[in-house]
Amino acid sequence: MRILLAEDDAMIGEVVLDALRAEGWAVDWVKDGAMAATALATGAYDLLLLDLGLPRQDGLTVLRALRADAGNANRRVPVLVATARDAVAERVAGLDAGADDYIVKPYDLDELLARVRALRRRADGRAEPEYAWGAVRVRPATREVTLAGRPVTLSAREWAVLEPLIARPGRVLSRQQLEEKLYSWRDDVSSNAVEVYIHGVRRKLGAGLIENQRGLGYRVPK
Ligand code: CA
Repeated sequence: MRILLAEDDAMIGEVVLDALRAEGWAVDWVKDGAMAATALATGAYDLLLLDLGLPRQDGLTVLRALRADAGNANRRVPVLVATARDAVAERVAGLDAGADDYIVKPYDLDELLARVRALRRRADGRAEPEYAWGAVRVRPATREVTLAGRPVTLSAREWAVLEPLIARPGRVLSRQQLEEKLYSWRDDVSSNAVEVYIHGVRRKLGAGLIENQRGLGYRVPK
């Protein structure tokens, strides 16, 4: 998935960026509210991690404008706001402005990642945190993958390609949509990268798990 991280604190930003990327997610990092608004108007995101105390435009203003902007493709993106420990009023205001969840700074990275996964599950309407297809079992929350009961290890990039597909079985994602979930602004993308990682998944889990929809993209069976 592709995440927009809006955080002005350089130290926190670096740590969070590394943690999210280590999960195989594509992350764009902006350091003020005006840049966040610009990114939201131009990119397609699966989640927004929004610090409420941002320069140039505070997080609440960014969030309210996003939720009110009928023409914005990210209008309904799940939003996780980060607030200071004693800022109860700020948390309430964040939730009232359309945030889906909040996390209190300084936060534990494992908690952050769990909240990110939970928000995505909710957004995808998946109550059942396991995907099963033939002999393949996938648990997104823990990234456990088994084939006929035997554990299979996927690389972070293979996982990044598989995850958005199993989030909504039956839905077709184009190569470009999958690329967007793999790479951030600063990455160079080789033209066949998606095919390479899909090949890797098929090699490990069987050729039928990810189906080609000719001219359209890829999907996993329902
Ligand atoms: Ca801040």
